[in-house]
Amino acid sequence: MGEGIRRAREGEKERKEGPSLLALLSGSERRSRGRRQTGRAGLRKRVRKRSGALFAEQSGTMLSGSSLIWIGALLLGLEASLTGASDFQHHGYEEMVRALFAVQSECPYITRIYSIGRSVEGRHLYVLEFTDNPGIHETLEPEFKYVGNMHGNEVLGRELLIYLAQFLCAEYQAGNERITRLIHDTRIHILPSMNPDGYEVAARQGPEFNGYLVGRGNAKEVDLNRNFPDLNALMYYYEKHNGQNHHLPLPDNWELQVEPETLAVIKWMQNYNFVLSANLHGGAVVANYPFDKSREPRIRSKTTYSATSDDKIFRKLAKTYSYAHSWMHKGWNCGDYFDEGITNGASWYSLSKGMQDFNYLHTNCFEITLELSCDKFPPATALAGEWLANREALVSYMEQVHHGIKGMVYDENNNHISNAVISVAGVNHDITCGTDGDYFRLLLPGTYTVTASALGYQPFTSTVTVGPAEAVQLHFYLKVQPKATNLNVKAYANKKGPSTAAKIPPTNLGPR
Ligand SMILES: [Zn+2]
Repeated sequence: MGEGIRRAREGEKERKEGPSLLALLSGSERRSRGRRQTGRAGLRKRVRKRSGALFAEQSGTMLSGSSLIWIGALLLGLEASLTGASDFQHHGYEEMVRALFAVQSECPYITRIYSIGRSVEGRHLYVLEFTDNPGIHETLEPEFKYVGNMHGNEVLGRELLIYLAQFLCAEYQAGNERITRLIHDTRIHILPSMNPDGYEVAARQGPEFNGYLVGRGNAKEVDLNRNFPDLNALMYYYEKHNGQNHHLPLPDNWELQVEPETLAVIKWMQNYNFVLSANLHGGAVVANYPFDKSREPRIRSKTTYSATSDDKIFRKLAKTYSYAHSWMHKGWNCGDYFDEGITNGASWYSLSKGMQDFNYLHTNCFEITLELSCDKFPPATALAGEWLANREALVSYMEQVHHGIKGMVYDENNNHISNAVISVAGVNHDITCGTDGDYFRLLLPGTYTVTASALGYQPFTSTVTVGPAEAVQLHFYLKVQPKATNLNVKAYANKKGPSTAAKIPPTNLGPR
């Protein structure tokens, strides 16, 4: 924190890690860029004008009262009708890339664009990063991600993430305190489209004609949310045999078994110590949390709640979104009913090889899956309303990354210990420190017994009380383990688990 501001003051022009916009645009794009930027800058001002007043009110910075909300809503509606909501359009690949680089160009000191890889057809999977010091992990500053458009024909998430990026930039420039704090204290990564090839297939049909399946998969028609290594079977086995409870290993040759888009996202997860994430889909309206895969996969068509050890936290995360969303929490949507607008994945329908379970089992990251619209490819006229319905929820959900405990694990010489393990008594899911020795552990308010352990060190246990506000900082200083008494290190029964090459489950093509 602070570094980005200093750089901004010094007027440093080039980001070290980000690719140059000019290097990525063709000649004709370069020539027309100036004109487009003017348009984009105007767009952002209009987006801010349209969205700012109500947002400020929801965040508690304006006076009070539902009357103001109504006045705000009326004004917003009036302005939207005057402009015909023409700013809210679907973005094809080129337009999306242009929109992201326009934000980067508008807010260069708090953003960075990087690509995590390419799709089957060679399109870049671009991520837009927001933070006060882009390109660098600062210790104790949590990493957050949003992923959109994993199913190519579920397009609302992609549009919402583009608007979110424009909104964050505009609000930061306008001095919005809540957004400024969020950007200074968090490293936010936004991947608007994980499946740009599928999108192009779906977009060729357009909103009115897109069916349930066209463009869902990638260019090879593989469903990316059925394409991650299945770690659930291993987890369910370890639960019964006192095995490892997090950071489960990947099967041999896993790289050869996944699509390029999946490979890129897995490498991304391995390179950044993400704490919290959401995966944006469409086809229903509900916040869906792990596990997606049932513990009894052999019983067909039977749905059973498959709780993680962090079930209460996941329910709270899902409710944060559903209640901040204009109607998700009401429960009745798209002909389905979900109490409070949330559901456990497996209790809805069991799904194997999905992304959210993989996040939880292979990394430190807690991810939920957000179903945001009945219509997978809504008409452009619906986009402005959808943005207003989701805006507060998208921001509130990001703020959840700051709850629980966080801290450093050091040795006796104040050197950080990477890969130390943080365990909470009563929760069968540990967290591993990042390479900088910092850890982040989401927890609900309460009192907890927390142990840090690392190979070659004596474990240390502390008690901590977590409140409802910012994460409590809890640091650990571990002493070297005396030789020949290496008994206290948490030992897992690391027997070979069951084969992870499970049979392909019956195809289930729900929204997720
Ligand atoms: Zn989906």
